[in-house]
Amino acid sequence: MIDLRSDTVTKPTAGMRQAMAAAEVGDDCYAEDPTTKKLEAKVAELLGKEAALFAPTGTMSNQLAIAASTQPGDEVILEAGAHIYNFEGGAMAALSSVQVSPIPTSDGVFTPDEVRARVRPEGDMYPHTSLVCMENTHNRSGGSLWPLAAMRAVADASRALGVRVHLDGARLWNAEVASGTSVKDFAACADSVSVCLSKGLGAPCGSLVAGSAELIKRARKLRRRFGGGMRQSGVLAAAGLYALEHHRSRLAEDHANARRLAAALAKLEGLAVDPERVRTNMVVVRLTAAGADAMGFAKKLREAGVLCNAIGPDTLRLVTHLDVSAAAMDEAARCFERVLV
Ligand SMILES: *Cc1c(COP(=O)(O)O)cnc(C)c1O
Repeated sequence: MIDLRSDTVTKPTAGMRQAMAAAEVGDDCYAEDPTTKKLEAKVAELLGKEAALFAPTGTMSNQLAIAASTQPGDEVILEAGAHIYNFEGGAMAALSSVQVSPIPTSDGVFTPDEVRARVRPEGDMYPHTSLVCMENTHNRSGGSLWPLAAMRAVADASRALGVRVHLDGARLWNAEVASGTSVKDFAACADSVSVCLSKGLGAPCGSLVAGSAELIKRARKLRRRFGGGMRQSGVLAAAGLYALEHHRSRLAEDHANARRLAAALAKLEGLAVDPERVRTNMVVVRLTAAGADAMGFAKKLREAGVLCNAIGPDTLRLVTHLDVSAAAMDEAARCFERVLV
């Protein structure tokens, strides 16, 4: 079975498991886990922030940043397809009691003017706009990239209006490899940044949120409240450190595999795939036949040997990762061909 549902399906490699087994640990709620501290220091340094905090999931990292940067009743400006807004179980509303002002886009990238138009004026009548969120790479639109200049422009406009900026960088590592812009330069456009270890980097779980020392102090308290205070988390942090060392530059292979798959699928009758839009490790495929049913198609693909997710009535998403090879891309394209006839 070729599993292209997500880059979260990877299993820890032998080397990663060894690093986990050998990890020096302590109780992190007593600030006594040296491996967790090492990972937090490493990620803070990579992102150019004063501090970082380890969390079990990317959802928790994002929600810690939101809770630490807003008050109940505030408004958050974000892209309409944002993970934070659509795929985190309603956490913004449930945990932070904030509302959203969503910006619809085709590729996840919005403009300073769109932010300015949504920042609320002062006054009793209005919600207070406290945060703008960007997502790079942008999941919902197929792993698309924010160019650094576009991020800087939004950050400058937001800060000029006294609005804080959060970056959902679950796949910021992919953005770095695909664009050549460092994660540090991207992170400089935001006051808080979340990154995932369990996507393309291949760790079994784990994420970090980074920002000023003061913001991370508040996030640490909130992490406890949200139930994310962990004990001997060094076992997990060791997987993250291993992933950062060994799996960061190889993301380029995932991107090449995604391009290879897109090029093969673009040749097939009945599919619309734009290889130009494949910038990182995701391929979005539209079924062009009238009345096409993506869920039904995915079911048939499963029988043919490929797992993928339907992300719309006629749209599938394929994600490459550590556990699929270039040869598997060619095989996956042949499976599509068999289902199409
Ligand atoms: C995966 C992902 C997250 C975090 O998801 P978890 O499953 O909670 O780790 C956050 N943002 C984006 C854009 C993601 O793709």
